[in-house]
Amino acid sequence: MAIKEIIRMGHPTLREVAQPFPLQEIGSEKFNNLVTDLKDTLEATGNGIGLAAPQIDVGFRVAVINIPNPTTRYGPVTPLPFTVFVNPEITVINEQTEGYWEGCLSVPNMMGYVERPQQIRVDYFDRTGSAQTIELDGFLATVFQHEFDHLDGFLYVDRLKDTRLFSFDTEYAHYHLPKTE
Ligand code: ZN
Repeated sequence: MAIKEIIRMGHPTLREVAQPFPLQEIGSEKFNNLVTDLKDTLEATGNGIGLAAPQIDVGFRVAVINIPNPTTRYGPVTPLPFTVFVNPEITVINEQTEGYWEGCLSVPNMMGYVERPQQIRVDYFDRTGSAQTIELDGFLATVFQHEFDHLDGFLYVDRLKDTRLFSFDTEYAHYHLPKTE
């Protein structure tokens, strides 16, 4: 449909709680246009792996995740085909946390270390309106919590354990990225 502008930290929409998407409107032109906009906008970033509707200034609880390659700038992960999540709800299965350096298309050129629970369940509606449940662990659990935080007006910078572990990405790559030699 269209590549949208990704709004950045400081834009008030990123701080609002998004509205549930009306289930009876899944499959409508409005819904399909939103999904296509999210897909096109995410693809245009080149390296993004998730995008939530508030990031394109749309206040609905819809997000997309697409992890095409097993290797990202976050390290090796399980690939996940392009998937649409409508009104997702997270349940933490295991409170044990693990930390990853996160980046965000709405906070460009920055990275920050965030610890989150590493075993979650997600209940959501898919793009056909069917109720689905998946369980995620490890880095994928972090990705989903990061994306769905956008639906509640949170950014990863709110979750930083230590602001000293908040860095420009070039400095992150230089000083913090584990060397693989
Ligand atoms: Zn983000």
